Amino acid sequence: MDFIKEFDNAIKSGHIVAYYQPLTRAVTGAVCGAEALARWIDPNVGVIPPSEFISILEENRLIYKLDLAIIEDVCRFYNENKDMNLNFSVNLSRIDFVEVDMFSLIDDILKKYNVPSNVIHLEFTESTMIQNTSITRTLFNQFHNAGFEIWIDDFGSGFSSLQVLREYDFDVLKIDMSIIKQFDTSSKKILYSIINMTKKLGMHSLAEGVENYEQYQFLKNIGCEIIQGYYFSKPISKKEFLDYLKIRKIESKEDNEYWNKAGYLNFLSADPLKSLSNFNDSDIISDAAPLALIEFHNDKFKYYFINDQYRTELKKLGFETIIDLENAVNDEKYENRENFIIQVKNSILHGDIQRVDNIINNVVFSHFTKLISKMDNKYLIASSINSISTKRTDFLVLKYSQSLYKTYDCVTEITPKEDSAVQIYSTAGFAKIYGTKSLREGINEFASNEVKPSDKERYLKFFDLAKIINMDGTYIQDIFLIRSGDSYKLKNVRISKIDNEKYLYTIQSI
Ligand code: C2E
Ligand code: MG
Ligand code: MG
Repeated sequence: MDFIKEFDNAIKSGHIVAYYQPLTRAVTGAVCGAEALARWIDPNVGVIPPSEFISILEENRLIYKLDLAIIEDVCRFYNENKDMNLNFSVNLSRIDFVEVDMFSLIDDILKKYNVPSNVIHLEFTESTMIQNTSITRTLFNQFHNAGFEIWIDDFGSGFSSLQVLREYDFDVLKIDMSIIKQFDTSSKKILYSIINMTKKLGMHSLAEGVENYEQYQFLKNIGCEIIQGYYFSKPISKKEFLDYLKIRKIESKEDNEYWNKAGYLNFLSADPLKSLSNFNDSDIISDAAPLALIEFHNDKFKYYFINDQYRTELKKLGFETIIDLENAVNDEKYENRENFIIQVKNSILHGDIQRVDNIINNVVFSHFTKLISKMDNKYLIASSINSISTKRTDFLVLKYSQSLYKTYDCVTEITPKEDSAVQIYSTAGFAKIYGTKSLREGINEFASNEVKPSDKERYLKFFDLAKIINMDGTYIQDIFLIRSGDSYKLKNVRISKIDNEKYLYTIQSI
């Protein structure tokens, strides 16, 4: 077939169309978009794949017409199925930029169909970025400023991938399928490192060419956000794609923003440079911290994801599966539920990492939570657990000191001379202020945020460090209205002398 001779007619007759390959959010399994891939449907020959005509069209400087035709086809699809709110990525060729003003041409199409620019993501390969650098840079900025996302396609297939990353800010990095295809220890190490790097660079990650469940699970576990490949679907016609969407969950616009934020969370080690030289397959993930993603909605918990480390920790606490844990924390009768809810609510309120120590199944452990993103009244919480000890003595010390401390809302050791504080214990419902900053800052912040405004002045006078250092007796004590949930309650605040340097600051309900 003479592609060049037939080309104009094929475009005019609508023989060149977009096929759609779904993009799947790894942690939820929902369809979050599709890549539009060109197919030439010849009435006599049938479906012709791009490998047969792309390079010929490039050589003849006609490729831009094809790329625009695909964008136009995508705009039509978007308009016919507006309620689905899907996003699309389209491919641009490096030759596109040589002859025509691609920005204006694309802009015109979007205006004609009234499609917002953030719906169409533009895939560039590194060859585009390396050649025609000055033209590309101008275009890149033009597209970005106009609200388009720019994705780097086939990352890792060329020689200059890293140079391109250094010079341009991409929104999504698409990992070339050649790396996934091998799926041996060496490619896993590379995948692991690329994902780690995307998180550091604040980019989202997508893996192409995912063909089986094992690859999908591996990628999901190392925190790759989006999956594309035959495992979910080949590129399919518009009609087939609509049928496919009928049986799949589609990610809403709000869900998209919600999960995009979670994408920046690094599922992997805090130390990405940890020697890559002598570890085996299982080590690839095992140096990551235990991590779970939990959705908190109307006092219900839903676990979206846990990594292997988290699973190991859970077993120590006596939970065989994530379902067991989910059932327990959603059971009104479960003794740790209330404290867990309070901890999560504190994470939502304060935004910082909340830590609560506890004992379950004779294991002393710390539970850390942090708010990752929110949508309406749904909150996505990252959770990490760290079993501190199973030693009998540690267990007893914590157990008895906790029952002792339970008579207090908060116990903090303060050292006025060093302007420091260490919070020893606080009920989950009590804001953690002391111990996270200098003592003076802590006092001021506590007075402003936790003490009823009418009591603030008096609290600051009470907590006068010069007065405390020269304290006559063994303690000073007063009563203040202190925040308790949405209201204020009377609490007994006491500062007791331990020795010449240290004092114990306690708050007790009355
Ligand atoms: P690409 O942009 O990297 O697209 C991904 C290619 O990988 C597609 O091939 C897709 O069918 C294939 N693929 C996806 N998942 C799997 C998988 O699990 N296993 C295997 N073996 N392959 C998978 P396709 O559609 O033949 O396109 C090939 C290339 O042609 C594209 O690579 C892109 O560079 C180019 N192309 C396609 N459509 C257009 C277009 O509209 N404009 C331009 N300029 N280039 C296009
Ligand atoms: Mg592509
Ligand atoms: Mg690609």
